[in-house]
Amino acid sequence: MLDSMRSQLTLWYTGVLALVLIIFAVATYTYLGRAERRRTDQSLADTANSLVSNLNAESNDEDLSADDAAVEVTRGFNFNDRQAIVFDEVGRVVAVSTAPITRRGKSEWPSATELAPKFVPLIGSSKSAGRAYVTTHDHGEDIRALAMPVRVGEKSYTVVIAQSLHEEYEALAQVRRAFFIAVPIALALACLGGYFLARKSLAPVVEMGDRAARIGASNLNERLPVSNQRNEVGRLAQIFNELLTRLDLSFEQQRRFMADASHELRTPVAIVCGESEVALSQAVRSTDEYRESLAIMHDEGRRLTRIVEDLFMLARADAGQYQVESSTFYVDETVGECVRAVRSLASQHGLELRHKPAEEELIFRGDEGLIRRMVLNLLDNAIKYTPTGGSIHVETGRAGVNYKISVADSGLGIPAEAQAHIFERFYRVDKARSRNGDRDVGGAGLGLSIAAWIAETHNGEVKLEASDEKGSIFAVLLPAARKQTDTQAFG
Ligand code: ADP
Repeated sequence: MLDSMRSQLTLWYTGVLALVLIIFAVATYTYLGRAERRRTDQSLADTANSLVSNLNAESNDEDLSADDAAVEVTRGFNFNDRQAIVFDEVGRVVAVSTAPITRRGKSEWPSATELAPKFVPLIGSSKSAGRAYVTTHDHGEDIRALAMPVRVGEKSYTVVIAQSLHEEYEALAQVRRAFFIAVPIALALACLGGYFLARKSLAPVVEMGDRAARIGASNLNERLPVSNQRNEVGRLAQIFNELLTRLDLSFEQQRRFMADASHELRTPVAIVCGESEVALSQAVRSTDEYRESLAIMHDEGRRLTRIVEDLFMLARADAGQYQVESSTFYVDETVGECVRAVRSLASQHGLELRHKPAEEELIFRGDEGLIRRMVLNLLDNAIKYTPTGGSIHVETGRAGVNYKISVADSGLGIPAEAQAHIFERFYRVDKARSRNGDRDVGGAGLGLSIAAWIAETHNGEVKLEASDEKGSIFAVLLPAARKQTDTQAFG
């Protein structure tokens, strides 16, 4: 329960709010405490000032001695919560007002005789500073006192006003009580509100989780609902949907690949089975008949081997497992070797094969075996799709920042509508043409896709430059090595 994001968010939210509220309460309480103390001190100062002016007035108006005036003035000093004591120059108590009313049973206002000695040290400090404050504790009562020096005629006195701090404490206690009630209530409400908010804002995530859990290989076309693309949850759903689209596409490609592959394999396997059944159907056959059957099965076996090898290569390339073995070599030499390798095949089919080598050495770093395979695939196609008497022209050279290998033939050409598809796996322009006709040119439709993959792996490309009924031109572009690295590579 506590592990859920909702609870964790709520706990964090409540914790942070609790911290903020506690800091706020402590700061407010401290500020109020200081304000209360300032108010008490100000009130004491006002009372002292009025007593001092009364004292001066009394001594002037009534023609009394200063001591008598002090007694007279303090007698009229009637406050419930404070007391006035007048000291003479030597710290002797001259006059004391009536004691204030204290909280019955809880505390007791100390007698003037007990209180006066505590204020004597104030007399000195008040004379130098103009006034002095002190807080004392006596008989369970906290008392704040102000001492103020006064001159009456020739004599100097110190008026002390002492006040119980009970009122001040009571006001602060009320604030404390308010905080102790309000803060937990606020926290409880925030906790509840936070939980509902977290629940509400995480509801789309929970729904997304449920929907995502129901998506499997069989229903990869389903998508998560995107309520608002601009918020984080909507963005997450969108990213997840994009991932599903990529997965769906890759699953679809795999499914098609499997279907096409099994389809391609079925034909040669069927021919081998059919041919062996025919050969075995009679107890004895002539040597020629057996040779013919074996030759057919041999051809189909080779065809099967080639298809399986191509499939294996593409599967490893798709899985990123194909180990490219790089070395530095001359591209034009490799192309020359390929041309030599297919020369006898071309002449068997009555084709003229020409090679125009590059005028400079084309140094290249890459997998020579793969480059050879790519060139052979193009030459193989040119031979397969060019009728007897035709010609094939191979040319290598530099084209700007690239090396260019072009294979031009005077063959059947590729129909315009098929040109965009010839690099797709298992695509063949005319499946019937591939296996019938005057000679068996049956490919599985993988040659060009392998050539394209090899070129891409070397940061290059294979393209069909032109094709019509007079023939086709395929071109391979490979990034040329920079001049200075050429020498380094071979140094
Ligand atoms: P395949 O193994 O069938 O030759 P490819 O992937 O090499 O498969 O080629 C795909 C299709 O492109 C071929 O079936 C063929 O129809 C067409 N094609 C490729 N090269 C040529 C060419 N030089 N002339 C005419 N058609 C070609």
